[in-house]
Amino acid sequence: MAEGQIIEAWVVQTGLSKLDERFRFVDAFPLCEVMQVMSFLGSKRLISSAFVCALFLSVSLVAGAQSQISQTQISILGFTPHDAAHEAQIESKFKSIPSPDEERRQHRIFTSEPHVAGSPRNNELARYVADQWRTEGFEVVIRRYDVYGSNPKFTSLEMVAPVHYRAGLRELPVRGDPDSKDKAISSAWSGMSASGEVTAPLVYAHSGNPEDYDYLRKQGIDVKGKVVLVRYSNPYSYRGFKALTAQREGAAAILIYSDPAEDGYKMGKVVPEGPWGPEYHIQRGAITYDFMVPGDPLTPGWASMEGAKRIPASDAVSIPKIMALPLSWHDAKPLLSNMDGPVAPADWQGGLPIKYHLGGNRVRVHVKIEMDNSTQPYYVVEGRMRGAELPDEWVVLGNHRDAWVFGGVDPSSGTASMMELTRALGQMAKAGVRPKRTIIVCSWDGEEMGLTGSTEWGEQFADELRKKAVAYINVDSSTSGPVFHGQAVASLAPMLVETTRSLNDPSGKSLREAWGESSAVKRLHAKDLRQVNDANLADTRIGSGSDHTVFLNFVGMPVLGLQFDGPYGVYHSAYDDFFWMNHFGDPGYRYHTLMTQLWGVLALRLANADLLPFDFASYASNIREFVNELQKGKDMSQLNLQPMMLAIDEFEAAGKQLNESASRALTSGGIDPKLADTINHGAMQVERNWLNPDGIPGRPWFKHILYGARYTYAHLELPGLTEAVEKQDWPTAKQQADILLRALQKNTQLVHELNSELNIPAGK
Ligand SMILES: [Zn+2]
Repeated sequence: MAEGQIIEAWVVQTGLSKLDERFRFVDAFPLCEVMQVMSFLGSKRLISSAFVCALFLSVSLVAGAQSQISQTQISILGFTPHDAAHEAQIESKFKSIPSPDEERRQHRIFTSEPHVAGSPRNNELARYVADQWRTEGFEVVIRRYDVYGSNPKFTSLEMVAPVHYRAGLRELPVRGDPDSKDKAISSAWSGMSASGEVTAPLVYAHSGNPEDYDYLRKQGIDVKGKVVLVRYSNPYSYRGFKALTAQREGAAAILIYSDPAEDGYKMGKVVPEGPWGPEYHIQRGAITYDFMVPGDPLTPGWASMEGAKRIPASDAVSIPKIMALPLSWHDAKPLLSNMDGPVAPADWQGGLPIKYHLGGNRVRVHVKIEMDNSTQPYYVVEGRMRGAELPDEWVVLGNHRDAWVFGGVDPSSGTASMMELTRALGQMAKAGVRPKRTIIVCSWDGEEMGLTGSTEWGEQFADELRKKAVAYINVDSSTSGPVFHGQAVASLAPMLVETTRSLNDPSGKSLREAWGESSAVKRLHAKDLRQVNDANLADTRIGSGSDHTVFLNFVGMPVLGLQFDGPYGVYHSAYDDFFWMNHFGDPGYRYHTLMTQLWGVLALRLANADLLPFDFASYASNIREFVNELQKGKDMSQLNLQPMMLAIDEFEAAGKQLNESASRALTSGGIDPKLADTINHGAMQVERNWLNPDGIPGRPWFKHILYGARYTYAHLELPGLTEAVEKQDWPTAKQQADILLRALQKNTQLVHELNSELNIPAGK
């Protein structure tokens, strides 16, 4: 194809005239390195990114060749040197578009009113997102799912003995924050609570974990038919697990309160003086048993489309059978201070200036909850930026839109970052720069109720995703502070770390440096910064609790998750709002902006790579760690893991060979597009091969054999095998180990095949 034809093809694609296009490019980019362009055009390859380069060449000739020819070779995993240089220019343009002012403006739009799933405001925001994306040039579809609803009609809590106290279940306004006066702020309620009414004695059960009930039993305290009062706990344990545990213990209702020792004044200054939770803050939240199966409880494993089969609610394993209410410490204190019975152990004592007792007789409470469970529509907004060359390969990005109240951090910080990301991609597409692969951006609904919107969408498109999807990048809350937390399946950890080198943290360091320093302290507990390296920096242990779940655990897609953290005591309360973000979380919206840049650059690298940057040697060494951890401190004499360890070694060796061959092929200047296609599709298959169609024992929806989650949402590696070993169920453990072994062998074989494919042209 001659240069003229190339430009014609480009013009047809973009709908712009040649002249327009050239001027736009002069505007949009620093001039391309002419030498590299020329050497590229001299190569045999004719993949259509040549369009762009041809234009660069034209621009250079029109403008007169510039002297700024970079001699340093840019290297990016998965790119030839030439395409890496081009990619760097695209990224530099992309990074220049998002602005803190726009992040703040978008954040205000999403945080101006409460927008819980199913509310008119949340649906209005869906239309707003759709309109924006259409204007920006995305193909937009709004998908509707009709799901089992859970909305409060009536909630009340009273202490009836020894003294009367009616819980306010409300959050009072705070000075300086006009939004805290909003009449639309809901009272305390728990998503998916059962309906009912009970008057019963109250027992304090600490964090509400199984061992807490064991302790109570030893003290002669039975919770059957009683109401249990538990606290949110640190480290985080999903409230749905607390509810299930109370239900199994036979409790009639569970009250979950925020103790000041966990997220209030014991941690630091509270709102409006600081980021921690004030006296009245209530951590709302769902108690759905989505660790059994997420999404609409009535359609486990398939999408809640119109006319879809639905199971009876009584058969749905993810619907709790216990009543639940969240409480502020303001409402919990009168209960706790009136309780009798044994004094609670030292580590059960909290931050209130009282002695905590276990209770059981003196305090009696009346709980009444009526929920509306009628079917309600959730709306997922899907925006598609069709790939210029490989439209049937998808990079999927997503953030949930629904919030418990205003969603200052969770999720509207992420939504603001996403809206800036689509604006930037749209602006570039209008200037003629489209991604090579398709980028699909989704605004999920009902995440807070059970990961519902993303699960239904993932179930609806599972077959297509398994054929076409490269990866999913989730951003739930983008920002509550400056500490970066990056998660990736182990095959994508190296590309995540590499990407952070090309971004600037507001501290003045690169994001890689800033991440290394904070990660050392926070996650790795390293005493020395030298203990942090590229191999252990990314968090490769991925649990549940956000919208990546369906993509990783059901579809078998590689996933990434990104977040900036900081002191944050107002999670799921009315004080998680615009005021909080502007005073504590990210006053200058610089981390929101950095998130947009990072998220977008990752998406662009996955969308534009010549060879997808999966590192299977990294995967293998992580799997080895998972197996080593599984064995730690356990008697494993009943299970021979030797064959698995050997299979991991072989998978690692194959991964290393493929890395080397890919790197050789890339640096040699070019890869035939057909060959690249074979390699990329094969590499995409590796993640799918970690799926077991039967799922993990007892939880068939969760199909990934390397990644799973505990009922607390905590990460759980090798879930089927680990759970069997923990139960000392050796026949199941053996069967799960065999499944793992076979998957390792299958992937080793596949990676070997890809490696040979890559080596045929080089070795001829
Ligand atoms: Zn969230």
